[in-house]
Amino acid sequence: MPRIARIETFVVTQRLQKPFSYSQWEYDRRTVCLVRVTADDGTYGWGEGYGPAAVIKSGIEFLAPLVMGGDPLAIGALWQAMHVRATDFARRGVLLASLSAIDIALWDLKGKLLRTPVHVLLGGQRRARVQVYATGLYFDREPNLRERLAREAVGYVGQGFRAVKMKVGLGIEEDAGNVEAVRRAIGPHVRLMVDSNHAYLLHEALALTQRIEPFDISWFEEPVSPDDYAGYAELRRQSKIPIAGGECEYGVHGFHQLFSAAAVDIAQPDICACGGLTEAQRIAALARTHFVEITPHCWGTGIAFAVGLHFLSSVDVQPGRLRAREPFLEMDRTENPLRDLLTTPRFQPVDGCVAVPDLPGLGVDVDAKRLEEFAVLP
Ligand code: CA
Repeated sequence: MPRIARIETFVVTQRLQKPFSYSQWEYDRRTVCLVRVTADDGTYGWGEGYGPAAVIKSGIEFLAPLVMGGDPLAIGALWQAMHVRATDFARRGVLLASLSAIDIALWDLKGKLLRTPVHVLLGGQRRARVQVYATGLYFDREPNLRERLAREAVGYVGQGFRAVKMKVGLGIEEDAGNVEAVRRAIGPHVRLMVDSNHAYLLHEALALTQRIEPFDISWFEEPVSPDDYAGYAELRRQSKIPIAGGECEYGVHGFHQLFSAAAVDIAQPDICACGGLTEAQRIAALARTHFVEITPHCWGTGIAFAVGLHFLSSVDVQPGRLRAREPFLEMDRTENPLRDLLTTPRFQPVDGCVAVPDLPGLGVDVDAKRLEEFAVLP
């Protein structure tokens, strides 16, 4: 059987034509760290970490010796070897994003070696198409933000999305007005979610919840600090809007803390940060015991998106019923040349869903020319 012969990192970046912001800071470029794990027969797998690319790169270099020479089919054992080394220093945080990137590359590699799509390795396909929602509706420096948000939201509906998520976090009055404008623009039949990226204290989040409840909001994401488990739980008790969170949470133990606090209706692990596909499966099993839905956070290239597709293709949705709830994958629609140009295929929604790749591994590849063009030179 082949052994793991090479682990390479690639930090790629692109400046954006139009900067955009959310409640915490402004984006003027997109930068990610990819990893390629190659077996000694030349077969390779791609992975991606979510978080600060330079730090993720260092973390991958720290963990790589534990994986080098290993059996690429023995992902669980390699995962544990990396996790044991991380535990003393980083039970949570970005080192787990480095671990996630390697884990994902191993799943891609294993699928290619076995000529099997990752969703089959994860337990088999339950759905050939995954429901997606458009993430966009960020802030910018232009006047007439509210009009632009309404126009942008209508654009997503025109592209076939049946659900859109917008940013809040500018203050209760402004947020409430923006939410109302977007709801009016898209009409009553498109799902609408809001995300404050932990901008608020509990009393502010409660006030916003009360203001936007009439606009049929499917969830309020990261309403308060990810450390405020009690605040999450109290908001959830008082709000008619379901509460979502977890993109800043790591590992099954982090989600155990979130679920034990009864903090969320919907858990949003980022598979490229929480511990990879290996840990995401455990988090999904844990979520099931708490009757919490899983809706992965997804913010990266086509690799990260394909990871989400394979995961949700195979994930179990509870409770069972004739017209089952379909899980949702986040589909970032903000300007991102890394997502649109670096990886193939370029995913597009049809009737609010995206087809799950049926090729061996993740079914995504990286364009070698673009990889060179977008590379951050040391
Ligand atoms: Ca978010």
